[in-house]
Amino acid sequence: MLEPGRLADPGQDLNRIAAPAPPEEDQMLEILDQMEQGILVWSPDAVCVLHNVRIFEVLELGPHDLHVGMTRERFLTITVQQGAITAEKREEVLGLFATGQPFHFDRNMASGKVISSYARPLFNGGYVVTFTDVTQFRQDAADLAVAKQKAEKAEAKAKSMLAKEQAWRAEAKLLADLDEWLQSCKTLTELFAVVSEFMRHLLPDTQGELYIYSNSRDVLDGACAWGEAPIHDHIAPDSCWALRRGRGYRFDARGVSFACKHVTDQNRPLAPTDALCIPIVAHGDTVGLLHITFPPDIEPEVAEAGYRLGLQCGEHISLAIANVKLRDELHDQSTRDPLTRLYNRRYFLEALRAEQSTAARKSTPFAVLAFDADRFKSFNDTHGHDAGDMVLRAIADRMQEMFCDGETPCRFGGEEFSVLLPGADLAQARDRAEALRAAIEASEIRYGAEILPRVTVSLGVAAYPDHGNLPQDLLKAADAALYDAKATGRNCVQLAGAAGQ
Ligand code: GH3
Ligand code: MG
Ligand code: MG
Repeated sequence: MLEPGRLADPGQDLNRIAAPAPPEEDQMLEILDQMEQGILVWSPDAVCVLHNVRIFEVLELGPHDLHVGMTRERFLTITVQQGAITAEKREEVLGLFATGQPFHFDRNMASGKVISSYARPLFNGGYVVTFTDVTQFRQDAADLAVAKQKAEKAEAKAKSMLAKEQAWRAEAKLLADLDEWLQSCKTLTELFAVVSEFMRHLLPDTQGELYIYSNSRDVLDGACAWGEAPIHDHIAPDSCWALRRGRGYRFDARGVSFACKHVTDQNRPLAPTDALCIPIVAHGDTVGLLHITFPPDIEPEVAEAGYRLGLQCGEHISLAIANVKLRDELHDQSTRDPLTRLYNRRYFLEALRAEQSTAARKSTPFAVLAFDADRFKSFNDTHGHDAGDMVLRAIADRMQEMFCDGETPCRFGGEEFSVLLPGADLAQARDRAEALRAAIEASEIRYGAEILPRVTVSLGVAAYPDHGNLPQDLLKAADAALYDAKATGRNCVQLAGAAGQ
């Protein structure tokens, strides 16, 4: 309902709403009261000339907070006192009214509501202002923005998780493949080829090298590399912090850490880059070192993932090397004589069979040497079994010096030895046998402080196909020649007779 006195004399300055009341004025004002919004009309000289009843409810005003005839400045002062706008905002709004342009601003009511004021200029220089409760609308918009932000975050998280999952799967697959290949390696040479190929794929932006301890254990030999890594033939164990500390060492180019000497010694770029050294441990023994260099300016997160993966690779490689070494040891145990490290009888017989079949196929010659230490029983009796063992080792050393692996230098049993000479005819074999005899005779063998008396050997030589086609015939012929050498006076070489003798 329209309150009495609320409608001012509009005068000639007022616009259509405040124009001299047409017959329907009461009805029109009643409609304004029924509206959802508060309505206020300012005269050109900033005095309230009209407002509806709803405005009290919308702006949470007391009965004396607004009336027709009130100045805009007063009304806005009351608004500031209400806490709905700041004093600065009041000044700004007064300024906006002076522009004659439409504008809008929000009131934050004590009740928590947000009321939006839309001010539009009237033709006569006054303003009509509507006050709309936008609390729900703003809340909905805020909720929507929050929901949208949450959805975006969730999507980004899901995407990043998916990407991580995919990367993890790809990495796990590569690691599984690496493992399978590593486990299939029978020799270290095969294993090194697999390592360099897989490291290239597993850690594509890195470069690195694998070093393996030499038999003497005083240096590590460069085994394989990937990327552009400058691999060294040898590095000293002391030049690596990881080997000195017995655990993985991470060099952080941005933090306080010290580069390994095997890195600074190399002709690498001067700017230090992040790196990782991982000792390779097989059956509890450190057998090598995996060194990985990361690219310069690598993101810390990427470096972290690289370190984790590098360590995993180190473990896989360690396990595989342990397996190959174990296989080597087992193979060694089954093919080598433990006292002299020469091949054993079983291995020699296999090699002899293989050589005979190759020679038969290719029509090439080969020869067999069989020899035996002279009067060794009495040597043992005089100097003891341990001194006798020293002599057997010295004979083996001469054999290792004079014959290559393919010639299968072998301890046949006791103080009997044999050698296979692929490609050698009888004359060549005789010369090699004579050279060996002389070398053994010339050996000076120390046993503690004592120098042992010289030991000699008697040798028998048989050649394929001169003295037989079958391995057992050739062995028998070489043995018979050895027997002849013993009978002839020992410390000499005898050739086998014609086949069948
Ligand atoms: P011959 O010149 O006729 O060959 O005389 P021999 O004394 O060497 O001959 P015999 O076959 O009777 O003696 C072989 C000796 O070799 C017997 C054994 O004490 C010795 N012998 C065999 N195996 C080993 C070993 O592993 N270590 C040592 N120290 N002696 C061994
Ligand atoms: Mg003997
Ligand atoms: Mg003997």
